[in-house]
Amino acid sequence: MGKSPLLDRIHLRQNIVRWGVNILLVLALYFISLIVLIPGIASIGGRVALPWFATPDLPLRPVNLGYCLLARNYVRPTVRTVLARIARNMSTRYQGTTVIYLDANFPFLNGFPLLPHLSHHDGSKVDLAYFYRNATTKERLNTTPSPIGYWAYEQPQPSEVQPCQGKKSWLRWNFDWLQPLFAYTGVDPERTEVLLKELIAEPEIQKILIEPHLKFRLHSDVPKVRFQGCSAARHDDHIHIQVQ
Ligand SMILES: [Zn+2]
Repeated sequence: MGKSPLLDRIHLRQNIVRWGVNILLVLALYFISLIVLIPGIASIGGRVALPWFATPDLPLRPVNLGYCLLARNYVRPTVRTVLARIARNMSTRYQGTTVIYLDANFPFLNGFPLLPHLSHHDGSKVDLAYFYRNATTKERLNTTPSPIGYWAYEQPQPSEVQPCQGKKSWLRWNFDWLQPLFAYTGVDPERTEVLLKELIAEPEIQKILIEPHLKFRLHSDVPKVRFQGCSAARHDDHIHIQVQ
């Protein structure tokens, strides 16, 4: 006798339910470790998590929660202290403004890079979003044009310095086909210049990487603000900072 189609359907349904329960269990275990276990182990190695959400007291948040869910939001305590101070200063000066961070570091293992950022391997680095405004109305925005924070490039004007013009590197992505999606916004020069001044003024911050045209446009031509070169990711979609 052949197998009953009804029994086959019941078995299939049982398998789907079993798989669903297993996946939910794995996700629950991962989430519990993310909230309870990982922060504890990270603190032994001297790293702390940046906040998951902005609050009135600490207006600092990730560009999206994926960075926290993947544990890419860990830094040395000094980085968090500095960012908290700057975020509060920015929010006091520009009400409603939140400082947005992108990739930081993994919770542990010095020397293990947070790909594709080869240098984010010791808790001392973090990427910040520029501030943006509507390109037409000039209204200040509290979000980034790109949902992941990266790849919306603030292009240099023809009259501005362009050291990488005509140079190709497999690490310097341009994503020309994506740029029209972000054309409704541009970097807010006023708030971003103030942010850079705040970063420059922090003695613990050793190095700030942005593209040369923004360094001059935003009046931040000091030795601490540097250019990463043409054989690395562009920095006109984010600001890279490093503490001592
Ligand atoms: Zn970086």
